[in-house]
Amino acid sequence: MMYDVNRVREDFPILAREIYGRPLVYLDNGATTQKPRQVVEAMVDEYYNVNANVHRGVHFLSQQATDLHEASRETVRRFINAQSTSEILFTRGTTESINLLAFSFGEAMVKEGDEVVVSAMEHHSNIVPWQMMCERKGAQLRVIPMTDEGELQLEALDGLLNEKTRIVCCTQVSNVLGTVNPVKEVVRLAHEKAIPVLIDGAQSVPHMKVDVQELDCDFFAFSGHKVYGPTGVGVLYGKEVWLGKLPPYQGGGEMIKNVSFEKTTYNELPYKFEAGTPDYVATHALATALDYVSGLGMENIEAHEQELTRYALERMQQIEGMHIFGGARNRDAVISFQVGDIHHLDMGTLLDRLGIAVRTGHHCAEPLMRRLGIEGTVRASFGLYNTKAEVDALVEGIERIRRMF
Ligand code: PLP
Repeated sequence: MMYDVNRVREDFPILAREIYGRPLVYLDNGATTQKPRQVVEAMVDEYYNVNANVHRGVHFLSQQATDLHEASRETVRRFINAQSTSEILFTRGTTESINLLAFSFGEAMVKEGDEVVVSAMEHHSNIVPWQMMCERKGAQLRVIPMTDEGELQLEALDGLLNEKTRIVCCTQVSNVLGTVNPVKEVVRLAHEKAIPVLIDGAQSVPHMKVDVQELDCDFFAFSGHKVYGPTGVGVLYGKEVWLGKLPPYQGGGEMIKNVSFEKTTYNELPYKFEAGTPDYVATHALATALDYVSGLGMENIEAHEQELTRYALERMQQIEGMHIFGGARNRDAVISFQVGDIHHLDMGTLLDRLGIAVRTGHHCAEPLMRRLGIEGTVRASFGLYNTKAEVDALVEGIERIRRMF
């Protein structure tokens, strides 16, 4: 059963705003999503009524804050169906999750001459941390190529995997092309050679049901702010067998068992990877956001956004001079485009004047831009609250700008 999108929009106060005297049409959900009242209220309530540092206090408020924080870990576990809360590490976001993994995994598992495999359509945050680690260790980055349609070439992946490959890192959904990658198949191929896999779930978690056990991935990263939660919090999931073998990322409070000037022993999972005071207000708000989307039903959100994307593609393809990048068979709620020779920045700026928020540029995927032979695109990305009327506004806006040029 689908939800009532107009009712749901009332939960998001910002959607009632006007920009330059026009109703806001927010189509930049790939960059960040708007927050429902419930999420903001959870934060306000915690700051006003509960606030105390977690884990270290015997007093009432500290206990209560700790309970909320740890209950949030359980909510995340359930949301992605991890086996245990020891496998859920709180970070600042996808970027920090991948940096943590690249550092700790690199320290323990990578040596000179080894290889790390990423895909041609990764966000910089799933390229640069690996590149930095490779540089430190004298390892090599290898790339899974893609077709012109924006689909990964899995037959090439098989050829890339060898005894030197330490890890495969791949996004589940491309933030530029909207391609939904067959990550389960990537995992299967890698596991045939006992190679672990990290999945970047930044663009999948907000749009579809994710089950890390079903995917059988070894690591999975996502950001709170892209799934209607607050900024500054994210998750790294890791199978216990792997996390147990990796050294800590940062040192400090919370991640230790005992400290002396001679030697420090480390805390158990997940705390070993969580040095310092966590953003416990944000973790609670993230859990509130996950409960919110679960309440609507991830299947319903996916169905709503799929219908919206199909409708948008159909209407946009009729615009003269329209070029849509990527044509994967399995695609998500992201549409990158260019119209004639109108520069993406001009298109974005003029759409903004009509109250329509889209993203322009390279979308933190310069290697992908190079592969496509372009400098940038205009990107419209949908969220659970977008409507067909907003797609119509986008299409009419593009038409109007096209006629101006
Ligand atoms: N990975 C993908 C596919 C993304 O789209 C993004 C953000 O745009 C990131 C990683 C980085 O997320 P964050 O900036 O929240 O760390």
